[in-house]
Amino acid sequence: ILEKEGHKNSDGIIEFGAIINGKQVSTGEWIEVHNPYTKKLVGRVASINTDTLDQVLKDTKNTKINLTRYERYEILNKIADALEKRVDEVSQMITDETGLCLKDTRYEASRVSDVLRFSAMKTLDDDSQVFPCDVSKNGKPRRIYTTRVPLGLISAITPFNHPMNQVVHKIAPAIATNNTVVLKPSERTPLSAYYFAQLALDCGLPANMLNCINGKDIQATSEMMTVHPDITMVSFTGGSKIGKIIASKAGYKKLVLELGGSSALLVLDDADIDEAVEVTMAGTFKNSAQRCTAIRRILVHESIADAYAAKLAERVKTIKYGNPYDETNDMGTVITEEAAIEMERRVQDAIKNGAVCLAGNKREGALFAPTVLDHIKNDHEVVAKETFGPVAPIIRFSTLDEAIEIANDTPYGLSGGVVSNHWPSIQRVITELDTGTVNVNEAPSYRLEWTPFGGVKDSGLGYKEGVIEAMKGYTYIKTYSLPWD
Ligand code: NAD
Repeated sequence: ILEKEGHKNSDGIIEFGAIINGKQVSTGEWIEVHNPYTKKLVGRVASINTDTLDQVLKDTKNTKINLTRYERYEILNKIADALEKRVDEVSQMITDETGLCLKDTRYEASRVSDVLRFSAMKTLDDDSQVFPCDVSKNGKPRRIYTTRVPLGLISAITPFNHPMNQVVHKIAPAIATNNTVVLKPSERTPLSAYYFAQLALDCGLPANMLNCINGKDIQATSEMMTVHPDITMVSFTGGSKIGKIIASKAGYKKLVLELGGSSALLVLDDADIDEAVEVTMAGTFKNSAQRCTAIRRILVHESIADAYAAKLAERVKTIKYGNPYDETNDMGTVITEEAAIEMERRVQDAIKNGAVCLAGNKREGALFAPTVLDHIKNDHEVVAKETFGPVAPIIRFSTLDEAIEIANDTPYGLSGGVVSNHWPSIQRVITELDTGTVNVNEAPSYRLEWTPFGGVKDSGLGYKEGVIEAMKGYTYIKTYSLPWD
């Protein structure tokens, strides 16, 4: 059992045991975490094997949680209170494991408390319905009532890019609905997930309501988190490739898959260019552009494309990027040097095939400069594949039909946006984009933590997350009927 000040071990690095049945358990095997900017070891979490995981899943399945709505409300708010007092520690830890700049990781910490507080509020709502039965000639003097029942054991698998917020989007609605969860965060960024799980326990979460594990053998651990018979639901956020593997293996389990994206921003001919540039800046580069909803293609009407591209390049050159620990920087690194090298390769390939680079395209380790590419075609690899980093590719179009066709010419269907004040065109974009979200004069990523969120096509099965939908997804509806004269 490990219990340490500030979660640091004697070597000064952050250390967590596997969080099992309310305790941190050391196994002597570790998954190490290095900061992508300094390359230094910043932390480690215990690695468990699949025999232990099998037992954890069984024990979690057999734990029945019966917290009242008020108890759940209290715990969720207590965790939010505790987090809000520790924003510096939390953002520092996320920066340690991701290389994201402190501005981004502070923002993430504040999103996490929104998720917790919205979940707390929604816990108090009555989510039942009542149906009178004397409403047709086949009716009876009865009433049918609905009540929502927790599914049981949820397997939660999360990605690296918002290492705490993605986790809390799965855990908080599960707490709000009395479910139990085994969480496997990304092996690349596990620290803030373990931190959160420990904090939740410290705030009174019952043991075994949330267990947090990881295994050095990623394949075997992930496979068990997908196929184990005691799991009722797999809730996965990550890339489309892994999402499809999970879909092929999960069998008779409920599935929520929140996968990759290729969001298009359509800048129509009537758009205000300054507004379009601001929307692009807000929608592209935050979080080192490592967001599933980040703008990956900017479709600009040819009549304004020169002016827009020049302004965007000018603005992008003012982004301060570099050392993620420098409070004044707007952007830190991407997740690994290898990811930055691949980005650089795709950008060079686009330039070789006719694109024009207007800003950026410099790499130093895992730092990739905010980059603007003009004259991109939709089949350039940099946009045909999900390029998970700070690249803003401009594709020119001449008609709205063409813009909508290009926007939909992607396997993904997560989110999109349009900059215009011409209502008939806006309405066409809302109706005709094959995506889960369309934002008008706003970045495709914009949402609240409790509004429905999720994609179609290769971005997901159409089931949403966001606190309210996640709470519905984690429960099934039972009906009961009573005589009623
Ligand atoms: P990833 O798919 O590589 O990994 C996600 C998780 O899956 C990790 O925890 C990983 O260990 C686990 N995993 C690995 N192999 C597995 C297997 N065979 N079976 C089950 N799980 C397995 O994703 P990533 O690189 O960490 O994250 C980036 C991706 O996530 C991007 O594609 C991004 O668009 C997507 N994403 C989507 C959303 C959304 O809500 N739609 C949000 C954030 C990120």
